[in-house]
Amino acid sequence: MDSGNVRVAVRVRCVLEHEQDEELCLTQADKAIQLYNWKSPTDTLKFRFDACYNEEASQKEIFMGEVKPLLDLPLKGFNATCFAYGPTGAGKTFTMQGTKQHPGIIPRSIKHMFQLVNRRTKDTQQFTVSMSFLEIYQEKVYDLLEPKDHDLTILQDASGSIVVPDLAEVPIQSVKDFEATYNSGLEQRATHSTALNAHSSRSHAVLTIKVQSRACKNGEWNARVGKLHLIDLAGSEDNRKTGNVGDRMKESTAINKSLFALNQVVDAINRKQARIPYRESKLTRFLQEALGGNSVAKILTCLGPTKNMYFNTYHALNFASKSRQVVNKPFEARTTRVNAAGKAQPTPAASTSSGPIV
Ligand code: ADP
Ligand code: MG
Repeated sequence: MDSGNVRVAVRVRCVLEHEQDEELCLTQADKAIQLYNWKSPTDTLKFRFDACYNEEASQKEIFMGEVKPLLDLPLKGFNATCFAYGPTGAGKTFTMQGTKQHPGIIPRSIKHMFQLVNRRTKDTQQFTVSMSFLEIYQEKVYDLLEPKDHDLTILQDASGSIVVPDLAEVPIQSVKDFEATYNSGLEQRATHSTALNAHSSRSHAVLTIKVQSRACKNGEWNARVGKLHLIDLAGSEDNRKTGNVGDRMKESTAINKSLFALNQVVDAINRKQARIPYRESKLTRFLQEALGGNSVAKILTCLGPTKNMYFNTYHALNFASKSRQVVNKPFEARTTRVNAAGKAQPTPAASTSSGPIV
């Protein structure tokens, strides 16, 4: 596995009941998404990713393809992070959390991690698992497991490690332990939601599973710590363009700031830049150790296929795409130029479509 790199995959969900009459605005082929081009309806915009999943992809398939390969890293003392990114309504929570009938990445990951822990535990190797669950809303960090009456501070300790001094770390010994603790965190999040309209689509929820491992070699015990972060990001729609005012505008600015910072960090890591701008937002600051270095990160970009979500989809694709955006001209039948005597003439070099058009 390519450590230090950030992989971006796309998942296009099915057409929902209330969208049955909507036209589609994108298609998926292999590792690319083709989107209708509103600026030039005869063109399509093509975006390439590391992997693309269409509506037929099951929760299991996404988990197996994108997340399962990361799960033994925390047991070996490395960090792994998986983000769900995309517009509100595109399937982020469905992908991360899922439903009872269709469990998503979070419950599948926990189940698999405990299987790994149980399989690898022996007299000379032991593991301790704990979890924390926080929410970042308007650039403030809130503990969802042990709510406080203030937001939390992110600090860097003397050894350079990122610490959140008041963040609860709850020990868990089984999937059942996890479920009870996680559900209490979700309830806490839901409490915020009723107080603030659409709160959950405007905040980032960060679940962290910490694995401490101790191994004995030649009579000496050594300890290591690795973390898995599973993150349901705030909706990626460009809130600045929706005429938000007052509190909504403040929320939008905070969302855009942290998602923009995430994008800058991902770009800097993939370009192997010396300076990675972690300090630009709370989200990237908290994840400083989990992004870059020996860590592995995945971004799952969730999209809806219909035209009613077009501009949010367009915005998300532009934002998520690490590959060059290309404009695809529709196929045109070639004609041969002939001179008066019917002899073939050289055709002028085909004009290549220019690069990004936005
Ligand atoms: P988000 O968290 O991005 O705002 P949700 O996960 O809440 O979006 O999804 C919006 C709606 O679409 C929900 O009703 C959800 O059940 C449904 N949905 C999302 N993805 C899928 C999918 N892959 N298959 C079936 N239904 C889905
Ligand atoms: Mg959601």
